[in-house]
Amino acid sequence: MTLKNIAITSFKKPLASAVGLALSISMAHAARPPAPDLSNAEFQQCLNGLKNSSKFSGVDSYTFNNYRPSQPDPSVISSLNYQPEFQKDVWDYLASLVDKERVEDGIRAKHQWADTLRQIEARYGVKAEHVLGVWGVESNFGQTLGKKPLFESLATLSCFDRRQSYFQGEFANALKIVQQGDIAPSDMTGSWAGAFGQTQFMPSTFLELAVDFDGDGRRDLVNSVPDALASTANFLDKRGYRTGEPWGYEVKKPSGFWAASNRKDKKSMSYWRSKGFTLADGRPLPYDLDQAGLIMPAGDNGPAFLVGKNFDTFYSYNASENYALAIAHLSDLITREDSSKTDFITAWPTDDPGISRQQAKDIQQALLNAGYDIGEVDGIIGDNTRKAIQQYQTSRGVFPADGRAGQKFYQLIIQNGQSQQSGQYRQPSNDFNRPVPQYQAPTPATRPDNMARLIESQQGYRRVTNADGTISLVRIDDGAQ
Ligand code: CA
Repeated sequence: MTLKNIAITSFKKPLASAVGLALSISMAHAARPPAPDLSNAEFQQCLNGLKNSSKFSGVDSYTFNNYRPSQPDPSVISSLNYQPEFQKDVWDYLASLVDKERVEDGIRAKHQWADTLRQIEARYGVKAEHVLGVWGVESNFGQTLGKKPLFESLATLSCFDRRQSYFQGEFANALKIVQQGDIAPSDMTGSWAGAFGQTQFMPSTFLELAVDFDGDGRRDLVNSVPDALASTANFLDKRGYRTGEPWGYEVKKPSGFWAASNRKDKKSMSYWRSKGFTLADGRPLPYDLDQAGLIMPAGDNGPAFLVGKNFDTFYSYNASENYALAIAHLSDLITREDSSKTDFITAWPTDDPGISRQQAKDIQQALLNAGYDIGEVDGIIGDNTRKAIQQYQTSRGVFPADGRAGQKFYQLIIQNGQSQQSGQYRQPSNDFNRPVPQYQAPTPATRPDNMARLIESQQGYRRVTNADGTISLVRIDDGAQ
């Protein structure tokens, strides 16, 4: 959700490029670069030049001067050059995007906006649940729009670092949007890269595809749900959406069948049928899809999907197959109106599945309670949370200390948190405490051996008399890392 619809290959798919590596727990060495020291004199000189350049010829000088930033925002340059230290497994990515909460929000939205969605389906031919899937994944049904002032972000990216020409175009387009009166200037906030509103369009996508559906004469993708939903449908339609087709299905591969995951290598459904493919639950493949490609996001042993042209339109929203799969899966669950089970039929090839956003919040709260400074409890497992998890794992002798928030870590920290609250210390379960034989040799100073861990387990607590006279055991090592 960082950059939309940018036709620059090296730049457009931070997630998709990670997929090939997603099967192994991996930690890249790059970190968030510090915000650079940007010269305001240089910035203002650059803006003077832009004002008179051909790219800004459609922007009148009143608009340019009125929304011209008085200084650059260096934080967007560090975002531009940021490479995550930790790569997400595909099951973690899907679990955080398609959880019970989001499915329930989607079902609610479907009923609330039923009339509008029906009209949109009639005009653009796009299934209501597909529009809802995009809306839910893009902006959490309009709840997460991004808070960065767009003009500052885009002007800074227009004048510094490595994508200036592209961002100059987006800066000019953002100014045109307020010049036309579509969006109030105070509503022009979004992601660091300039995606904004309930559809998270870049300004160029807005100018190309945004529509006024509520009839007030403005294309307001920030405040008008009908405008936002219709603009999403228009986007999918213009990218080749086929009315009446499903996005595809989760399928079961016949035993012994091998093929590379390849969305683009589309074959007729009779081909897949003849190879012995069925739906994941064993029923025969339906006849409502023309052609499909096979994708296996976690490799040969995980869930498999046959995906058609409509899946490609989801893909074109953010150039990531996992992203498109999140939209597809969310839209299926909203169609079924069932939030009880958000997994696919075939399990991911892991014994430690991903967590929901609520579980992520619980983990963050437990880390805060344990004295780790992870910032805000937002349900997003970012670098700060992962570093804290890594420290927590190390302090508890968990190997590998990979910083990952999966179900096992969730159980560990919640159990420990409850033990503290109830005053009863429980030994962590064997699963977490057991040294894995093949782990890398620890350095004696940082890795407790079994004896040291035993001492820690007995000495790492002190007795505290509570206000009501009860006795609690409180860890004394938390936060000391
Ligand atoms: Ca409108």
